Amino acid sequence: MTSKEGILREEIVQRCREMNANGINQGTSGNISVRLGDHMLISPSATPYDAMTPEMVAKIAIDDRSGAWEGPKTPSTEWRFHQRILRERPDCPAVIHAHPTYCTAIGILRRAIPAVHYMVAAFGGTDVRCAGYARYGTEELSDLVLAALQDRTACLMANHGMVAMGETLAKAMWRAVELETIARQYVTVLQTGADYHVLSDAEIAETMDGFASYGLQAESAAA
Ligand code: 13P
Ligand code: ZN
Repeated sequence: MTSKEGILREEIVQRCREMNANGINQGTSGNISVRLGDHMLISPSATPYDAMTPEMVAKIAIDDRSGAWEGPKTPSTEWRFHQRILRERPDCPAVIHAHPTYCTAIGILRRAIPAVHYMVAAFGGTDVRCAGYARYGTEELSDLVLAALQDRTACLMANHGMVAMGETLAKAMWRAVELETIARQYVTVLQTGADYHVLSDAEIAETMDGFASYGLQAESAAA
């Protein structure tokens, strides 16, 4: 095993623990993957994060759709959409899936998050879409998630949760936390029943221009 692989295995375990500690996930609901050359490393299925060790992280060839893996534990049941993202989105070699309360609440409403906050621009466009529903772990769910992620770096999942991606796991985690924050703000506004304002496409475009030179994203990615 290369030292890079060892570092990434360790990071997957640490990031699993982090997403439960920072409140965006609970139990063993989420899963995390990262690309390593022509393979992916992914958290094992149904394994409490406190008991997870780097050796338990499963390794799957990016082009192998058979479900075969290397490692002592079964990979996450969501290996299919992780594998497709890592295969089809070279801009995002790190993927986090979780069941945060507010993202999931909007997923239960089966709505996209509109541009209710300028931070929506951090996900690549004027909204964060909600993927349609299919049973967890299926190819159908994988198709729906990939469609919702087109030109975006995150999506909600109907009656399920969310996916956030990035150039690194640090960046993917930053997006996951930001997405849950916007989801919470949006749900809070919906609960008032009052009219609310949505930013225009031009306002989101100017935010994206601003982000190109703003330090926050770069700092978060290096965290
Ligand atoms: P795993 O424990 O198999 O990773 O599944 C959790 C999950 O989120 C399924 O959608
Ligand atoms: Zn899930």
